[in-house]
Amino acid sequence: MLDKQGKVVTTSITNLDIHDISRSARTFGIEGYFLVNPEEEQANIARRIMAHWNTGGGRDYNPDRTEAFKRTRLVAWLDDAIAEIQAECEGVRPKVVMTTARTIPGLKLTAFSALREEIESGNQPTLLVFGTGWGMEESLLRTADVVLEPIRPRSESNYLHLSVRAAAVIVFDRLLGAR
Ligand code: SAM
Repeated sequence: MLDKQGKVVTTSITNLDIHDISRSARTFGIEGYFLVNPEEEQANIARRIMAHWNTGGGRDYNPDRTEAFKRTRLVAWLDDAIAEIQAECEGVRPKVVMTTARTIPGLKLTAFSALREEIESGNQPTLLVFGTGWGMEESLLRTADVVLEPIRPRSESNYLHLSVRAAAVIVFDRLLGAR
């Protein structure tokens, strides 16, 4: 990911993102939510949070949250998530769809409506990729099969800074929500 200065970094795990995105993903029937982080220390934080809700006192306190976490897993790299999906989908590689608020020349952008139709056709699994920090760096975005058009307001607000958990649930609703 990029940091504030535009440097490539590994970002920290955000507790709130794990909770909110797990719940949103479960609500919209998404089959898996992968947290991607190659740092062992960060992975341990994520494991501790998930263990609390999967097995610890959290499970008795809020079973709905335990249910949301059932489909949340941790991998070190994006390629690991792709490989896991491929292995679980009879060898079919997922379509890798990345998201960004930035306008970057030369990216293969796709409209929400086109991707929604494709998902409905059920031909290929889809992996939606969201960034953290200041977003995914350009060379990573260029490895996507497609990049989703940015979420924008109807009238220009000159401010396009959604949190990843807000962006994720908007994308889920546009692609998978009832209409
Ligand atoms: N300027 C950064 C960027 O590249 O999108 C914002 C990073 S934001 C804190 C974290 C993530 O939320 C982004 O990497 C992207 O996945 C998603 N996101 C945020 N705003 C978005 C928007 N307007 N359209 C699409 N995705 C967005």
